Amino acid sequence: MAETTIEKAKAALSDAQRVIILSHERPDGDAVGSLLALSLSLERAGKNVAPVLLEGVPSRFRFLPGADKVTSDIPSDGDLLIFVDTADIQRTGFPVETLPRQPDINIDHHPTNTDFAMINIVNHKASATTEILYDVIPQLDLEIDIDVATNLMTGLLTDTIGFRTDSVTPRTLGIASELVSLGAPMAEIYSRTLNQRSFVSAQYWGKGLNRLERENGILWTSLTIEDRKVVGYSGSDDADLVNLLATIEGNQVVLIFIEQIGGKVKVSWRSRPGVDVAEIAFSFGGGGHEQAAGATIEGNMQEIKERVLTATRRSISPSPEEYA
Ligand code: 5GP
Ligand code: MN
Repeated sequence: MAETTIEKAKAALSDAQRVIILSHERPDGDAVGSLLALSLSLERAGKNVAPVLLEGVPSRFRFLPGADKVTSDIPSDGDLLIFVDTADIQRTGFPVETLPRQPDINIDHHPTNTDFAMINIVNHKASATTEILYDVIPQLDLEIDIDVATNLMTGLLTDTIGFRTDSVTPRTLGIASELVSLGAPMAEIYSRTLNQRSFVSAQYWGKGLNRLERENGILWTSLTIEDRKVVGYSGSDDADLVNLLATIEGNQVVLIFIEQIGGKVKVSWRSRPGVDVAEIAFSFGGGGHEQAAGATIEGNMQEIKERVLTATRRSISPSPEEYA
């Protein structure tokens, strides 16, 4: 009988002592939650684990158990290299040639995942990578204790924006219920990761809200390096402004353009069900989900805005057959 993917992962793990785990740059709650949940469960099984994020753990997630163990330097060697919530090998932000070995295991839920590892545990239907890990951790004979449960819950809550996305299934809610039974403090995680904002973030949002534009079902705005400097915002992201814009009625697609250092712009798309923005993001070298996708594109703000808005308009306008 052919060895299943899980059996292969189990065998790889049993041979390994030093395990390196990576996730994507500008990590969200699912990236951090997946990284920490798997790290803690492996550590408790006696493995030597190095959880690594290019920019470390964002302050919003530093309350999570295990967050203090994350480093921003990859060990120069290890027995196993695992990626979580990472659609492709470039997404960690580390130059690929600096990775200490070929990818061994890839655990993810993005439809744009490129199956880049030896062992790929990818389920596009899962609402979060932590939803997959909820099954995979026990299948690998590892334990879900209260700390692991807390991290798994963080991925579920943040990737579904508080169970508000179409990706939420009865299974997602069943897992959430189990995690609460295991002691995961859902209300606290909800409040810390989804509700609380710093004063500086609100001022940063103000810059973007002042520049809102809307045309034919597309709503967009931009944030610049100068905005961050003026308000004193230390991240390089949008402080989640795109998810606020997505609550504004009457739009098919919402976009945000975030200027980055080094002549690049990070673009985030959000869409109504039925409009697939993952494809557009993929065409710009990014990826994501049908209703939430992103890409980092080289070039200046004005030029990228024009290119991206043109592609987005094209993708939502009815095709000729629909007029027939
Ligand atoms: P956000 O726009 O909030 O950063 O991300 C929305 C979704 O798109 C997330 O699932 C995120 O992982 C994915 N995503 C964002 N940027 C990129 C990118 O540059 N490449 C890929 N493959 N996925 C991205
Ligand atoms: Mn995710």
